[in-house]
Amino acid sequence: MKPNHIVHISAECYPLAKAGGLADVVGALPKYQIELGVQASVIMPRYHLPGILQREWTVVHTGSFHLGSHLLEFAVHHLSSEELGFSVFAIDIPGKFDRPGIYSDQNGDFYGDGPDRYLAFQHTALLFLDSLPEVPDIIHCHDHHTGIIPFLLKHGMGFDRFRKTPTVFTIHNGKYHGSFSWDYLYAMPFFDWQMRTLLDWGGVINPLAVGIKMAWKVTTVSPNYLNELRGDSDGLESLIQSESAKSVGILNGIDTEVWDPASDPLISVHLKKSAHAYKKGNRDALLKAYPLDAKRPIVSFIGRFADEKAADLLPETIHQALSSGIKVNFLILGSGNPWLHHALNSQRLTYRENLAIYIGYNEQLAHQIYAGSDFLLMPSRVEPCGLNQMYAMRYGTIPLVRRTGGLSDSVIDIGDADGRGIMFSNASVGDMVHALHRAENLYHDKPGFKAIRDRIMKVDFSWQSSAKAYIELYNTLI
Ligand code: ADP
Repeated sequence: MKPNHIVHISAECYPLAKAGGLADVVGALPKYQIELGVQASVIMPRYHLPGILQREWTVVHTGSFHLGSHLLEFAVHHLSSEELGFSVFAIDIPGKFDRPGIYSDQNGDFYGDGPDRYLAFQHTALLFLDSLPEVPDIIHCHDHHTGIIPFLLKHGMGFDRFRKTPTVFTIHNGKYHGSFSWDYLYAMPFFDWQMRTLLDWGGVINPLAVGIKMAWKVTTVSPNYLNELRGDSDGLESLIQSESAKSVGILNGIDTEVWDPASDPLISVHLKKSAHAYKKGNRDALLKAYPLDAKRPIVSFIGRFADEKAADLLPETIHQALSSGIKVNFLILGSGNPWLHHALNSQRLTYRENLAIYIGYNEQLAHQIYAGSDFLLMPSRVEPCGLNQMYAMRYGTIPLVRRTGGLSDSVIDIGDADGRGIMFSNASVGDMVHALHRAENLYHDKPGFKAIRDRIMKVDFSWQSSAKAYIELYNTLI
């Protein structure tokens, strides 16, 4: 049977609050599910971010709950406009989410009270759902911030209405477990104490593990990533293996309305008839803002400077490539690791004409880079799905990617039939320099380069088929 109403619960949702791909997925999937004839909405925290504060909201529910011995108030705000194509409910919990960051402050320092914040969010999300006349057909939880919910629906006190509500838990990033010590028990809503061992993994409360154990179905954001997690998931391997029967990998789509080179308001030149004119216009605009050597291809990197993205390898790769005579330009957009900020900034002095850097988060520049670059480099150590390579391809930028996770599911090496990009096996300076060498050669093989560019711009990465796969999964639960 087809579900009528799906509720997504998530810490992020584009364009309201975004730290990475989780936001992009939760900001798109409901819209495409609605197109398939079901009702879908999102519950998220009400952070004090511009994307939230600059929009109009209406308070639709207020209540209070206990966080340990404190009685806290909360208010649920509903997004008044229909701009996103689905309903969004943002929960305001004063003292917990009225901050200008999602997970960290302006200096990049993580807020120290994550367990309290996300337990409070999960508790109030369920109190809000309980206040509604109808129980949703499916509750779809995303990442560890919502991993306790499938447990509470089964064993939480006061949530009896939801005992039979099917839950789906999607792992967008298995690196973050959100674990906390049993000392935080005070912050948990009351639950059936006999069931407490279900919360435990390795002596701590591990929300990612709880979501995997308790949800009716588990999904990962690409099929290959699910295989990888079975072999390496920072201590959850045996759990993921034992829950294999209820797990499936569904490759993310991209929001082809937001990411459309023919209409994207954030880029300089729109795609009309000629892909060449569109690319050249955006490339020239990029070079005007970042004066690099116009004769060389622009190889860009966009992403968090986290271990998973292997951004730490960039300085040495840039040095070895440029000093060994590989004629490319590098354009880097990202932030995270202060050591890396410093290393890249000091390299700028040596390679002024071939290296440009923007440290920080800049949505518009990201769009301009996808539109104006020739190649996008993704040496990721771990990439659950990866959206950048799909945006890049849609915008005519050839991906240089490590064979891992969703990158393996979405890119094909140009040495194989219907190739889409350049692939390499190891997150190492040597592999990247070799890939850059191949990219330089491809760039100068004009017909070969054009053929691949034309091909990748036509690949269908839209959400339609992935949204359908989720609905088919829900159907098995109802
Ligand atoms: P992850 O969620 O692991 O960071 P994804 O590839 O799933 O990686 O999603 C990354 C998203 O974040 C993409 O939309 C990408 O364009 C965006 N992004 C990452 N870093 C930046 C940045 N510094 N400025 C603008 N957008 C960024």
